[in-house]
This record gives sequence, structure tokens and C-alpha cells, in this order.
Amino acid sequence: MNAPATLAQPVTKAAGSRPEHFDVLIVGAGISGIGAAYHLTRQCPDQSFVILETQDSFGGTWLTHRYPGIRSDSDLYTFGYRFKPWVGPPIATAAEIRAYMGEVIADNDLDRHIRYRHQIVSASWSSDDSQWTIAAKRLEGGETVHFTANFLWMCQGYYRHSEGYTPQWPGMADFKGRIVHPQTWPDDLDLTGKNVVVIGSGATAATLIPSIADACRHVTMLQRSPTYFITGRNANELADMLRTLKINEEWIHEIVRRKVLYDQATFTRRSFSEPEVVKQELLSGVRAYLGPDADVETHFTPRYRPWRQRIAFIPDGDLFRAVKSGKASVVTDEIECFTADGLRLKSGNELEADVIVTATGFNLSVLGDIAFAVDGKPLDFADTVTYRGAMFTGVPNMVWVFGYFRASWTLRVDMIADFVCGLLEHMKAKGAKSVVPALREEDKDMPLSSFIDPENFNPGYLMRGMHLLPKRGDKPEWQHNQDYWTEKDEFPLIDFDDPAFVYR
Ligand SMILES: Cc1cc2nc3c(=O)[nH]c(=O)nc-3n(C[C@H](O)[C@H](O)[C@H](O)COP(=O)(O)OP(=O)(O)OC[C@H]3O[C@@H](n4cnc5c(N)ncnc54)[C@H](O)[C@@H]3O)c2cc1C
Repeated sequence: MNAPATLAQPVTKAAGSRPEHFDVLIVGAGISGIGAAYHLTRQCPDQSFVILETQDSFGGTWLTHRYPGIRSDSDLYTFGYRFKPWVGPPIATAAEIRAYMGEVIADNDLDRHIRYRHQIVSASWSSDDSQWTIAAKRLEGGETVHFTANFLWMCQGYYRHSEGYTPQWPGMADFKGRIVHPQTWPDDLDLTGKNVVVIGSGATAATLIPSIADACRHVTMLQRSPTYFITGRNANELADMLRTLKINEEWIHEIVRRKVLYDQATFTRRSFSEPEVVKQELLSGVRAYLGPDADVETHFTPRYRPWRQRIAFIPDGDLFRAVKSGKASVVTDEIECFTADGLRLKSGNELEADVIVTATGFNLSVLGDIAFAVDGKPLDFADTVTYRGAMFTGVPNMVWVFGYFRASWTLRVDMIADFVCGLLEHMKAKGAKSVVPALREEDKDMPLSSFIDPENFNPGYLMRGMHLLPKRGDKPEWQHNQDYWTEKDEFPLIDFDDPAFVYR
């Protein structure tokens, strides 16, 4: 793969000058923002646009996370865009994903549209002007620059990039060693010969542990409760066979995507229809690596049914091989407190540590921690109802890209892009300057509930921040149902003249 595109910086107008105007302003240069920009250039070539990005390069998640072993946990045939074939192994490193994104930027001349080191701090909609005014802080110099835009395409992800979530435990200040969060992994951390405890057993812990185990004296994965993992080779047999047959990469991408999605649909359906069978299959995958004597019941058998939290893919069983080798171990217990030398657990046991890694998740960030206002009134997104998890009642000319939990995020990036471009074209044809979702007469008494159904999906960062998110109704239009397989059929049929869209 080619190196990522270079970071040519267009010149931003100085503070105090007239705001620059764009038809569309994209927030964030992660996989969503770059995908949005690509589709705009193809589907709406006459719309001017800019991408504002806080960080000093593109990649979002794949730039922020630099801990050892950082990689995807879903396959790149579906995490890749539909328009650019993925030609590497299905599970990819952050560097490989950034290289892929860099090619999209370079191939489509997107670099000139991106302003790095611009952190958006506020966005105000004016109905009189039918436009947003955006204030962004330039990270060099610290001055504020202003932009106006007809349409805001929110591609800022769902968590705060500046720091991860670390719970507070008693005694943390007494610990003599170092406490590290994977999201802000220090460049100078040398784990050679160290005793390391990783708190947590999600995808991050599962990725990190095998990649540091060899260097460390010992790594302990400390979990309050077990997580499901799925194991398999980091290879796609169908893709490999099609390559042997010299099929072109565009075809391979499309065929393999369909196969992966078909298999995932089957797996998801079975997780609901026969959870016990799926559970036993997942556990037997773990046993195959750990052997018959391992205590899979205590350490690898979750209390919830499969798919209520994301299931991390463990390529070639590397986490379990690290455990089997004795370089890593798993402790299922709760922290009583930190001590000078490590951790005291509720069982009374102690864990010695030189370094403690808190792989304890994210801080949810609702719409990029931007202070939003509509016609001078501060906007609380918790007071809005979501239109298909993408738009919000009372918030004109704005779309948020929030992907899938059980399927690759990027599937929704492409889908929402078709929706936005269709909507922009529709507005142009109508001569409308604004569009806002509004509950229709038949929706007025609709019961409202939390953005995501916790019975359906309940990771910690969502549970902690659910009260900040928009509300969901009980009809398909008024919720993000997290179901790619129904949305892929429903989205293309959306009628932009439905009364749920109010134009001016
Ligand atoms: C370690 C890790 C592994 C993951 N693996 C997978 C996986 O394998 N498959 C999968 O489907 N999903 C995965 N996810 C979920 C992942 O976050 C999404 O799939 C996807 O990368 C999100 O892309 P995004 O562009 O929407 O948001 P992000 O990647 O979060 O990027 C958002 C960008 O917006 C910028 N931004 C935010 N606020 C502002 C602001 N106010 N002003 C300017 N810029 C702003 C940020 O700096 C950032 O660069 C993973 C997440 C993590 C943390």
C-alpha cells in the first residue's frame, strides 16, 4: 500500500476576517468524514465543502489509538468503503487502515479540502440566514476562525479523542508504578521485564495483551466479568481463492463483502434465536486454544447472551496462545483498591504490578463536544428525537454519521452519504434552503425512549452517556435500529417528500 497522503495545509483566513462560506461543512477526518467527502465529490460535484479536523492528520480512531497491536476487530472488506477494494488481510492494523484512507484522499484529491488542527467549539443555526455559523479554534496560535455553511455533516464519531474513560478507585495516588490508558499510550513506555496488569477484557485488552506479552515479565488481564471472543484465521478463503483465479479486485471486494455480510446476518440472527448454541460454539473456540484443563467457565463465559456487547475477533487465537504459553493470565475479580505495589482485589488476593493499563473504555462525546444553538437557543440533543439515528427534530440541515455496533461502521458511512447527497439534490430541485425532521401528526403520541435499547446493546460508554443522547421513537423512521440488513433496503426507498421532512 502507498504511504498516507501528505498533509498539505491550505491557508485559513485570519481571525476577524469575513467567515469563509461552504455549501457543506464536514466535521472530522476519520473514516466517516473522508467517506462523506468522497461521496460529495462524486454525487454532488457542484457543492463546495470543507473538512475541519482537530488532529494534525486524518484517521480519527486509527490515528488516536497508538497502543501496541492496535488493529480492527471487524473485517476490512466491510469496514473498507464500498468504492475502494480492500486487498489486505481481513483484520488490519491502524497503520494499514490509515494507508488505505490515505489512498482514498490522494486518489480523489481530497487533501485540499481538509483543514487540520481546527477544533470546532460552537455551531449556531440561523433560520433568517438558513445557515450555520461555526467557530473553530486553531490549535496553533489559539485564535478562533469562523465559517458559515448551508449544511453540517457530523462525522465526529462518538467518543472524546483527548482522553479515555478511567474509573476512580481508592488508593490510585499511592501506586508507585505507572497508570496508563490505551487511548493516550505514552511513547516512552518500556514494558520490558515488567509486571503489567491490564484492567478490562474488551477488544482493546484482547489486542494489547498478545502484542506486549513477550516483552513483559507477565501480563494479567483483570476483568470483573468475562467477554465473548470469536476466533479464526486472519484470512478470507473466498478472497484468496478468487485471487488465485485472477478475478479483479473490484469483483473480489463486492463478492467477499456480500459473503461476509451474509455470514454476519446469519450469526446475528442465531444469537437471538439460539443464543445457547451460539454461546457454546464461541466457548468451544476458546477451549480449542486453551485445552481441556482451562477454567473457561470462570474466565471466558459471559453472563449476557452473545451480541449484547461487541464480540471481538481474535485472529489466530493470539490472546489465548499468550495465555496458554504462561506469559499472560486472566483473573476474574473486582478491585478493592490500588496499593503501592499493585492492586488489592475483593477476594483478598493481591496483584503486583509495575504498570497498570486501564483498558476501561471511552467517554461518550455527543456531537463532538460542540456548543450547538438554534436561533440563539442552546441546543440539548437529549430534547430531540432522532430521525433514523442521523437527523434530529428541531435541528435543521444537519446529519450525524453513527455507524453500526454489530456490523462495520463504514457500511453506514456509505449509506448515509447516499441519503445526504439525495437530500441535497432534492433540496436543490425544490429550491429549499433548509430541511428539518419533525414528528408527523401520527407520531405525536409515539412513546419515546433512550437512543439505543439497552436490552439490545449495552456497552459501558453508552450506558454512562445515554441521558445525553437524542430520544428514539417506536417507528423505524424515529430510531437507529442498528440493523444494517433492514436499513440497506429501507434507506434507498426514503421519500424525501414525506411530511417527516419540513422544508423552507
Ligand atoms: C480501538 C478501536 C477499534 C475499533 N475497531 C472497529 C472495527 O474493527 N470495526 C468497526 O466497525 N468499528 C470499530 N471501532 C469503532 C470506530 O470508532 C468506528 O468504526 C470508526 O472508526 C469511527 O469513525 P468516525 O470517522 O465516525 O469517527 P472517529 O474515528 O472517532 O473520528 C472522528 C474525528 O472527528 C474529529 N473531531 C471530533 N470532534 C471534533 C470537533 N469538535 N472539531 C473538529 N474535529 C473533531 C476527531 O478528532 C476525529 O479525528 C473501533 C473503535 C476503537 C476505539
